[in-house]
Amino acid sequence: MVRLFVPMLHAIDGRDVRDRPSSISTAKFRRLIQYISSMGREVVDPHALLASEAWSSSSANTSQRLVCMLTFDDGNASDYTIAYPELCGRNYNGLFFITTGSVGTDHHMTWGQIKEMAEGGMVIGSHTHTHRWLPRLSLAEIREELGRSKMILEDKLGREVAFFGVPGGYYNRQVLQAANDVGYRLICTSDRGFNDIGKPERPLVLRRFGIDQRVGDGDMQRMLCGAYPFKMRLIGSVKSAAARVVGIENFERAAGVGRFLRVRAFGRSEGMN
Ligand SMILES: [Zn+2]
Repeated sequence: MVRLFVPMLHAIDGRDVRDRPSSISTAKFRRLIQYISSMGREVVDPHALLASEAWSSSSANTSQRLVCMLTFDDGNASDYTIAYPELCGRNYNGLFFITTGSVGTDHHMTWGQIKEMAEGGMVIGSHTHTHRWLPRLSLAEIREELGRSKMILEDKLGREVAFFGVPGGYYNRQVLQAANDVGYRLICTSDRGFNDIGKPERPLVLRRFGIDQRVGDGDMQRMLCGAYPFKMRLIGSVKSAAARVVGIENFERAAGVGRFLRVRAFGRSEGMN
């Protein structure tokens, strides 16, 4: 059995993004990478997750092992300036979800940087074209958001883009349907949790853990041991309960946490970015 831990990272080094609590300091990011290395955790290539042979052979193995897949949302400039050199230095790869409409704008990577990373072994995925709240859109509009960014990325990079990171974590069955329809084979949500993978699903829908300044070093180490830190479980369940009582949209408006609340529109909400 393989337990997959997928950290979800946003901007690194909060100096440029003080209004975004999802960002983490460079020092904390480096400690996460250091823990992965010192604890001997394997960083998997996202493409390996799509290969059914990898999972069918590992599911025959009764001992459980924990592997990581590093993900970065939004195409922030720090993906190139901080994360990329750090990952290269360790021979790790990362999966970077790009909002294609934001490429080249303030605090975001340029196409030149994204291409250089793709050529340097990093994996590029889509984060839609305009980062809209997808459950509010029609199926046709969702297909347009997902399909357009896939087409742009494939055109710019000259390779297939099979990975999709849900913007804001907001999704419902229509979003999964549209992602599958336009050809994504792996979808990263913001639902918190590990992924116990015995056999591949199509598409593969993964849970992640948001890693930001609020996540302590002890929590990062516990997650690298496959444990769900109590504090994170508690925050998630309190937010879910509050959202259920007052309704998701009212809860966001009242709490002013709209873009930080992650929702599974068919019944469950999660609290990380
Ligand atoms: Zn995002």
